[in-house]
Amino acid sequence: MRSFDYRRADSLAAAREGLGEAAQIIAGGTNLLDLMKLQVMTPKQLLDINRVPGLREITETENGLKIGALVSNSDLAADPRIRSDYPVLARAILAGASGQIRNKATTGGNFLQRTRCPYFYDTSMACNKRQPGSSCTAIGGISRMTAILGVSEHCIAAHPSDMAVAMRALDARLDVADATGDVRQVGMDELYCLPGERPDIETTLAPDDIITAVHLPQKQSGAVHVYRKVRDRASYAFALVSVAAIVTRREQRIATAALAFGGIGSRPWRNSEVDEMLAGEVPGEPLFAAAADRLLAEARTEEGNAFKTRLTRRTMISVLREATGLEPASVGTDRVEESAA
Ligand SMILES: Cc1cc2nc3c(=O)[nH]c(=O)nc-3n(C[C@H](O)[C@H](O)[C@H](O)COP(=O)(O)OP(=O)(O)OC[C@H]3O[C@@H](n4cnc5c(N)ncnc54)[C@H](O)[C@@H]3O)c2cc1C
Repeated sequence: MRSFDYRRADSLAAAREGLGEAAQIIAGGTNLLDLMKLQVMTPKQLLDINRVPGLREITETENGLKIGALVSNSDLAADPRIRSDYPVLARAILAGASGQIRNKATTGGNFLQRTRCPYFYDTSMACNKRQPGSSCTAIGGISRMTAILGVSEHCIAAHPSDMAVAMRALDARLDVADATGDVRQVGMDELYCLPGERPDIETTLAPDDIITAVHLPQKQSGAVHVYRKVRDRASYAFALVSVAAIVTRREQRIATAALAFGGIGSRPWRNSEVDEMLAGEVPGEPLFAAAADRLLAEARTEEGNAFKTRLTRRTMISVLREATGLEPASVGTDRVEESAA
């Protein structure tokens, strides 16, 4: 690890002042310190925000719930209001990492964790995200954990967060304080950049922006929440594919649907056309298959991640069955879907 200066901020104003060009915020440190040990990230200064007051509360507002940026992943998943009104979020968080890591990891840090593409972590390999202009070794390389949506010829890294996928389905909005102290709101649809030609630029935040809170809208009454994560191990593994679904019904039809996906996108993935296709329709296999076709129409695969189109399709259809109360597909039906994909 390269040497660095370490400072603690006791207030948001002190944090703002301390965030110079070379400084990096440290919250739980569960991602940043790993990256520093590998010299993937080499900040000259760390600014610890853990003593900044007011960032560890979850409060009810007239528009929903406000979650401080330092609320730990464990506390957020265990909060009774999250468990009862936003279960998709509790389930997504609990599907990630381990109990010990969730105790340290914070809400703000979870949004900004970096990709798990193996080439990003291996400094002996070229990676445009780590070193712009050096090329992407994942293209044509080991690509099992990489993305199939929102990729470019410069980067196919997948966004790793489970929590952010649920936040995307929930239309969460972040409070972000800039260098002058002004706070603006950033929607989940505005936070993450596509890799394009600059995969090293991952978000629309400035280097001296500080996430202070996240807002969840009022709970949708009668909504069914599902979070399904498919991974290589039953725990302690990042998603190959994950689906967050929030579905409401009116009589026999789907009234509203909000679907977001992890493991397959360069950012927590949502396609409004998919949600719109489902709204107002009678749930059923042909509808779900058409929605999966729409989602995957722009998928760009590598040899090592081509299986993700089939896996996404099957997981999405299964989640939609659960969310709309249809019987689970029989094994036979599942096989037909797979071979048809
Ligand atoms: C072994 C292991 C397994 C894991 N498995 C999963 C998994 O399955 N699913 C999953 O979703 N995650 C997983 N994680 C990732 C884990 O969720 C993240 O490491 C964690 O959420 C990051 O939060 P943190 O507070 O520790 O962030 P830090 O490491 O402190 O910071 C991460 C980044 O965010 C920035 N930052 C932090 N807070 C703020 C803020 N308030 N404002 C602006 N910038 C900020 C930091 O500067 C840094 O760049 C795993 C991690 C490990 C180590």
